[in-house]
Amino acid sequence: MKADPWRQLRLLDLQAIDTRVAQITHARRTLPVLAELADLEGKARLIDDQVVRARTALDDVQREVRKAEADVQLVRDRAARDRARLDSGIGTAKDLVALQHELESLARRQSELEDVELEVMERAEDLESDLANLTAGRDRLSERIAGLEADRDVSLAAFAKDEAEVTRPRADIVAGVGPELVALYDKIAASSVTGAAALRQKRCGGCQLELNPVEIQRIRSAPEDEVLRCEECRRILVRTPESGL
Ligand SMILES: [Zn+2]
Repeated sequence: MKADPWRQLRLLDLQAIDTRVAQITHARRTLPVLAELADLEGKARLIDDQVVRARTALDDVQREVRKAEADVQLVRDRAARDRARLDSGIGTAKDLVALQHELESLARRQSELEDVELEVMERAEDLESDLANLTAGRDRLSERIAGLEADRDVSLAAFAKDEAEVTRPRADIVAGVGPELVALYDKIAASSVTGAAALRQKRCGGCQLELNPVEIQRIRSAPEDEVLRCEECRRILVRTPESGL
């Protein structure tokens, strides 16, 4: 394959751009804020699950509170009716004694039910306070996540700007290098990340191996427009004034 030395040198510019783009891509993928965000989002999901469980538990206990209140109310109403009948003095002495007994037993029952009511109300208060703590913690976490997302977006915008600047000359360079040489470069780059390397001080700039004297001799006598390949890594080897030939 033939390509004039100028085209071959332009290939090194293309390689420099592509290397820079690969670095930007890597830096963007490994931004520390992304790992931090993933960690906080995991924590947020755990808290969300806890909030759901706490709400369900609170709903259940609030139902128990309403039931306990209704139970106490029933006994109170019944006692109020008994007391009214007793106060009216209507009925036989036996009836009035029976009413008196029932009132005593209702008072005991009311006291027991009020204890139950108090206990479930305390449980409801505890759960309300747990839920309030969880919600407050989740709100703080949401704020931190929003802050990190803003940081991330600033970084991503900066990377996008860098990448746009770095790649701006690429199309012109590709046109200058020509489709045939670019196709070869792309094919090598697809398998070994970089497709072209400068020959510097008798070393391949890609694999860093020194070329043997026989190879150097062959390169010395090769026509300027011949496209050379590194024997070791198969990259396109571009001769430069620093090649040491
Ligand atoms: Zn090499």
